[in-house]
Amino acid sequence: MSNLGTESNPLRVAIVGAGPTGFYAAEHLFKQKDLVIEVDMFDRLPTPFGLVRGGVAPDHQKIKTVTKAFDRIAKNSRFRFYGYVEIGRDINVEDLRCHYHQIIYTTGAQTDRQMNIPGEDLQGSHPATEFVAWYNGHPDYRDYEFDLSGERAAVVGIGNVALDVARILARDPDELAKTDIADHALEALRHSNIKDIYVLGRRGPAQAKFTTPEAKELGELEGADVFTMPDEMELDELSEQSLAQSQDRGTMKKVEILQSYTDNKPSGKPKKLIVRFLVSPVELYGNEAGQVTGMKLVKNKLYASGAGTLRPKATDQFEEIPVDIVFRSVGYRGVALPGVPFYENWGVILNEKGRVLNPETNKPVIGEYTGGWIKRGPSGVIGTNKPDAVDTVNCMLEDLEAGKTLTPAQPDATAARDFIKQQQPNYFSYEDWLRLDEIEVAKGKETGQPRVKFTRVAEMLAALGRQ
Ligand code: NAP
Repeated sequence: MSNLGTESNPLRVAIVGAGPTGFYAAEHLFKQKDLVIEVDMFDRLPTPFGLVRGGVAPDHQKIKTVTKAFDRIAKNSRFRFYGYVEIGRDINVEDLRCHYHQIIYTTGAQTDRQMNIPGEDLQGSHPATEFVAWYNGHPDYRDYEFDLSGERAAVVGIGNVALDVARILARDPDELAKTDIADHALEALRHSNIKDIYVLGRRGPAQAKFTTPEAKELGELEGADVFTMPDEMELDELSEQSLAQSQDRGTMKKVEILQSYTDNKPSGKPKKLIVRFLVSPVELYGNEAGQVTGMKLVKNKLYASGAGTLRPKATDQFEEIPVDIVFRSVGYRGVALPGVPFYENWGVILNEKGRVLNPETNKPVIGEYTGGWIKRGPSGVIGTNKPDAVDTVNCMLEDLEAGKTLTPAQPDATAARDFIKQQQPNYFSYEDWLRLDEIEVAKGKETGQPRVKFTRVAEMLAALGRQ
């Protein structure tokens, strides 16, 4: 092994993407006591934490306390944050190769998957990812508009994101006013006329992707009654068999909770949340102005696929429901980074165990790695990314040991900083972020919220006294 990773020749690592996986990777790198490692973390936004800030629902504040652990990691004297520096806009991958021995891409999954049905692009049909980013104050979505003047909303998909969206639509705005929901979204939700919210699952209750606590939470909403349909709650034979075999207590509990909602009676709450199963949208209808007005659903049956999972199959029974707005919550999808091999079919960086692969040779690209959703696809909770990041970092350490790293022309922290400053004079350091954080939290104290978010980059710059 060369003397790389020593005081006189530190291993310089760039992490692209300041979400949970990026921080978990930094943490594991810093745990290597016999190596001197410097980490520079990049994000295209001035603010760190990825989906913890821009994705986790505002009424799930407890989940966001994970950022305290990220702050501790960032305190390491060998850690630097370069916020508001976008790879492909301000600097490129070639520049990173000039300054770092190893690069990890942890950019998450920034866009949505498609349903591929007629009418999907009508006005009023939105990817849930955009609505989530909007109500969480992501600057790129600040000026998006969602017309909540109609009475009926449909959320397609039964993952945790679908339930986040349904809850935000269903909650009493006064409850949301105690969270860190973006001001513009709270204002729009205060004027919302939405009364009926359908959540549509293509498979049955035993296959619902949302987790048990989230299913329970639906029954505890102050502003909405939740209902399920008795005929959709009866488990089919295949689901019964599969549950009996797996003895999955979490799923059994979830099914039980969902079944209990069939007995609910309207209690006078202003909104209704109706969770449907075994139905797939096959077409969205619109009016002359191109605005969505309805949805055609087909009833599904389950069949056992070769892969051992139960899949939905369309029957010849259809129904139509009137809807004024649709949120497609059928999964996130990764976006390619310029200059980094990408596997379009899965929407991930082409990799093996986190080592980026050259698509022509299928061999690892020296010094380049990936972790989190852009490595494995959008699955799991925040904590799932910790072992994932550790696996990637272990590959990096193995390769370092074998002498397989990049040989950057300028492996020096000051040279990197000077270059970045030249490319993006307005970059945000971690200290800058901590100042923003302090201002947001102080504003929140005045309004009884955990924080009041800055939702425009210009406002963030101005808050730090920059142009
Ligand atoms: P997800 O869990 O993969 O759920 C996607 C849903 O969309 C599934 O119900 C899927 O059905 C359905 N779907 C996919 N294609 C469809 C189609 N063409 N038509 C109808 N339905 C379709 O994805 P997600 O909800 O976006 O969540 C992403 C990850 O973040 C998950 O791991 C989730 O647990 C996590 N997350 C966690 C929390 C939390 O911990 N509270 C909050 C938010 C997100 P099938 O199952 O039939 O494919």
